Amino acid sequence: MAGQVEGKVALVTGGASGIGEAIVELFAREGATVVITDIDELRGPELATRITKAGGKAIFLEQDVTSEERWIEIVAEVGKRYGRLDVLVSNAGIGISVPSIVDMTLADWRKQNAINLDGVFLSVKHCLPLMRKTGGGSIVMMSSLAGLRGAPGLSAYSATKGGVRLFAKSIAMECAAAGDGIRVNSVHPGIIDTPIWGKMPTGATGAGQNAPIDPEERARLVTPLGRAGQATEIASGVLYLASDASRYVTGSELVIDGGMNAGGVPRR
Ligand code: NAD
Repeated sequence: MAGQVEGKVALVTGGASGIGEAIVELFAREGATVVITDIDELRGPELATRITKAGGKAIFLEQDVTSEERWIEIVAEVGKRYGRLDVLVSNAGIGISVPSIVDMTLADWRKQNAINLDGVFLSVKHCLPLMRKTGGGSIVMMSSLAGLRGAPGLSAYSATKGGVRLFAKSIAMECAAAGDGIRVNSVHPGIIDTPIWGKMPTGATGAGQNAPIDPEERARLVTPLGRAGQATEIASGVLYLASDASRYVTGSELVIDGGMNAGGVPRR
């Protein structure tokens, strides 16, 4: 049976870890050729080798999503190798946590924006022309539950994810008006058990550093389903948006959060 993204070329930013890694693995199993990009030059190539050894198709290209110069090179490389790009998953992101916004430095605010928001803008600006050349495709932007609701301690992160949500809708409308066959949607994970929770940098001032967060412990308290989500549970939603099964879906937001956005936590 043909895979759900058989024959498609997909680029996944932040593809070396967590949710990105799960998307890369699922896309490769479902028949796509996957271009993994990440700043992580250790895990990225390892993942590409693992997929290739298992009979899948993947390459790794080192990339900092905040560098416009690198975006130009990456898109040129994808064009040269494959002549097309069908799926873009703008997934790379970080979360900078401070107990109070007064503890946040301007440098950290800008860093948060540069990776989570500039990186998504640059991905779309530079990938759209190649996607349009071959008749369309699907763009998936990784937002967050924090792009739908406030996130105390993660206010800068929340601002970027809210921005990603409306950027996705705006680009969806632009593409629909252009009739270019490109659909654009955002995905909103709740608390997902990935390495991001362990490496959440606190404000550069170090003022009143937050205690490290255990996603499983936190999710048990605040998630109606009573547990953290797995990266694979986000990847399956992204696969749907990338595949032709969602051909009538654009400008929408897929919330995968164990029920958190629906209301209060049920009594246990
Ligand atoms: P992760 O830390 O496991 O993976 C993030 C990846 O992005 C890493 O491989 C990292 O090297 C890469 N990255 C960081 N900065 C980069 C840069 N400048 N250029 C290129 N790559 C860079 O985290 P994750 O949980 O898998 O997060 C993936 C996405 O999902 C992020 O956008 C995050 O905000 C979002 N998200 C995560 C959760 C969660 O609970 N884990 C919830 C909601 C949204």
